[in-house]
Amino acid sequence: MLRVRFHGRGGQGIKTASQVLGTAAFLSGFQAQDFPLYGAERRGAPIVAFTRIDKEPILERGPVAFPDLILVGDETLLEDSQAAPACGADALTTLLVNSTKAPNSLKDKLNLLTMPVTCGLTKLCLKHLNAGMILSTALAAAAARLTGLIPLNHLLEAVEIELAEFSPEQLQKNLDLVREVFELLNPVVFQEREEAGLFPSKLMALEQQEVRDAAPLITATGNMNLRKTGNWRIHRPEIDYEECNHCMICYARCPEGVIKEDAEGKPEIDYDHCKGCMICAQECPKHAIKTLWEMDYEHQSQ
Ligand code: SF4
Ligand code: SF4
Repeated sequence: MLRVRFHGRGGQGIKTASQVLGTAAFLSGFQAQDFPLYGAERRGAPIVAFTRIDKEPILERGPVAFPDLILVGDETLLEDSQAAPACGADALTTLLVNSTKAPNSLKDKLNLLTMPVTCGLTKLCLKHLNAGMILSTALAAAAARLTGLIPLNHLLEAVEIELAEFSPEQLQKNLDLVREVFELLNPVVFQEREEAGLFPSKLMALEQQEVRDAAPLITATGNMNLRKTGNWRIHRPEIDYEECNHCMICYARCPEGVIKEDAEGKPEIDYDHCKGCMICAQECPKHAIKTLWEMDYEHQSQ
């Protein structure tokens, strides 16, 4: 059995990526299982999706704790201890990161046992779809190619099935993207794991608790501030104070309440908690809020 785990953020098409891969595997003559895992979080929150592929009926259930293949759609997740995309990676695991960085720099950073594969999928998505955030078909194509199990024609057919509601023009752009990603990567030889079945996983370790602790009775003081949702950000709003007229419309419109007025009456963004929804930029009447790519910003500030 081949176990695949996709990591990304809400809104990036991670669930669809696992579905396209599952459908492509099914069309290629395999049994397949695909499903996502996320809670009540919103756009930008880390999410995970899984695909299992086998010649035999798949009886295994639950999250994939020890994946053969991991695909990380968003490089910022590598630093997120809650997303933990490398969790369960061992010497048999291949990890692909949507990144333009050198693989060995990520290997050292993540303390991986094997050299990761890097591929700048965001740039390819921008080229074909004019949208760097929608990674579903690019990730599915990367996964399908790396498995070495799925021919291109079945992958393209799966994309047509899963994106059936897209306009012909949008579908064609996705098919072109899939072709390019598929041709860019090479298949990996995966070794069958000796152990099969379910493993205890960080993702599903639920401890038995006293009823008084487990009941939905919240007695602690507010702790929202401790959740640094700033690392969910893909886009970074940056205020151009030369243009800003201090109308504070951004303050009123920010759904997270993370813009405050500083001592001089100017808007100030709390980047520890700004999720990068960019509503402030859309609402600013002076167009004084620029949209930067978070990763580009990080490179600039290093
Ligand atoms: S909405 Fe635009 S102009 Fe108004 S305070 Fe915010 S950044 Fe400045
Ligand atoms: S991008 Fe703007 S509106 Fe969205 S959370 Fe950040 S500051 Fe608020």
